Amino acid sequence: MEKLTIEAVDREKLTENDFRGIHEVMQDMWASESWLGELAQCKCCGKMLSKEHVFWHLSKELIQEKVAHIMNILWLDSISCTICGGDTRLIYGPSNVEKIKDRVLNSVDAFLVLCKSDEKGIVGFNEGYIDSLDRIFQLDLHDHYENVWLAEIRRRIEKNLGYFPKEILSMSALWLLKPYRSFQNLFRLVNKYALTLPESRRWIPWLVEYDRGGTTHRMNSDVNRGISLGIEDDPELRAKMTRVWEKYNCDLIIYPDVVGMQKDFFSKDVRHYFRMSKGKTSPHLEQTIDKELVAA
Ligand SMILES: [Zn+2]
Repeated sequence: MEKLTIEAVDREKLTENDFRGIHEVMQDMWASESWLGELAQCKCCGKMLSKEHVFWHLSKELIQEKVAHIMNILWLDSISCTICGGDTRLIYGPSNVEKIKDRVLNSVDAFLVLCKSDEKGIVGFNEGYIDSLDRIFQLDLHDHYENVWLAEIRRRIEKNLGYFPKEILSMSALWLLKPYRSFQNLFRLVNKYALTLPESRRWIPWLVEYDRGGTTHRMNSDVNRGISLGIEDDPELRAKMTRVWEKYNCDLIIYPDVVGMQKDFFSKDVRHYFRMSKGKTSPHLEQTIDKELVAA
């Protein structure tokens, strides 16, 4: 079996290769139909194209590879629209590397856990950073919420927390490539991340956009400390969201005390998490955890 290491990395020690690796995993995460379906958008007809939509003709093995790797193999530097043949824009193109660097290197603080395989380099990560809402909006939320307005998000955060925080921890992304995806690896990523967060920041709020169908959303809604900003449940606001795949059921959530929550639930082992959240976890997740415990 391929050896996997899951470790927290200081931002000062990240190399150009690391940033590119994170970008490629992130691009693949957003592109996949089983997840968010955001590979490219047609400049002519506006259609959002997923990885499966564009590369449906590839073998099962090849389509599991990262988008960047597939494009390399096929000698592609752009993707044509599968509907009208027009030019498309990659949603997470090469400029995303600069965005990741800006988040990680220029924020107040950044926390990064990398999952590396001996053979394939970075195959997963958990990234978050502390910054002002203005910067988080520019660096993370702008793509989806450009027309929902920063002021609307600000108002909802203030209403739900009872104050407006100067600094917020933004959970930027958490992902594992498909061949490495298991509850155990996911938990290890979350666990290392929880251990990395500084105790001195116990009360910092956390802003995160989740896919309501995903395991991480279930894990975090089960701990019952997050408050949905309700944007996606408001049909008028949902209609204003940009560059969102029509099937993506997202939810922008604020947690009043992320570090406390992460330490309480995720800083020990799976059994501890299970005990802490027992009775609160959804049946699906309990089954997953049960299975993992049996397998462990
Ligand atoms: Zn098109």
